[in-house]
Amino acid sequence: METANTTAEAEEKPRPERNNWANRSKDYLQTSQILRKSKTKPNGKKPPAEEKKHYLEPEYTKVRVVDFDLKELVVLPPEIDLNEWLASNTTTFFNLINLQYSTISEFCTGDTCQAMTAACNTILLWQDEKGKKIKCTAPQYVDFVMSSVQKIVTDEDIFPTKYGKEFPNTFETLVKKICRFLFHVLAHIYWAHFKETVALDLQGHLNTLYAHFIVFIRVFNLVDPKEICIMDDLSEVLCNPPPPSPTAQNHVTER
Ligand SMILES: [Zn+2]
Repeated sequence: METANTTAEAEEKPRPERNNWANRSKDYLQTSQILRKSKTKPNGKKPPAEEKKHYLEPEYTKVRVVDFDLKELVVLPPEIDLNEWLASNTTTFFNLINLQYSTISEFCTGDTCQAMTAACNTILLWQDEKGKKIKCTAPQYVDFVMSSVQKIVTDEDIFPTKYGKEFPNTFETLVKKICRFLFHVLAHIYWAHFKETVALDLQGHLNTLYAHFIVFIRVFNLVDPKEICIMDDLSEVLCNPPPPSPTAQNHVTER
């Protein structure tokens, strides 16, 4: 196999736009761009912590924006380098999960969410750079996640965009860390802000984004299953591909 390359040429050639690879046939991503416009204030205030997992009710789990097999979407294309594919998808998921959180962020305050809660009575503590655990509110936790991930994905030494530049040895470890943090944000949205998401009629986007993300991290083994088991019940329902519909439509039809 001929792999020789001249470094002189390498500087000239820009890499293809990273997000284009991950965005193939994802109509729901485009729809996500207008999420902010559809924001209306749901009635009432933030409900108290829910014991019941409303997001598991069939009327909600059947709502998705796409009805194709998400496994096909995450598979590594033959011509693409694995690290490039991981970088592309991780960056896309970061942007989408940030956007999804922004739709409910006005309801996620230091008063309504005094801790970073998730299913199964989970309270997540942030770890600072020295490894010290910090108790913080959910919006603070999400802010820590988003700013630290932003810092990593825009660091040219970690997520290189210039042709010929190598990924560092720490790349995979950092991608795993990012995915673990992004999962926490999704888990909090489901646990503490699902009613508001439904009031905004965005549960289809959330379900699709969640299922796509879970399929991605499972296929590439990016998060220890023990770290995400608190949401296994939802993952099982959402990640199974829907039965083929005789009337091919973009939306899963409701009965
Ligand atoms: Zn919250």
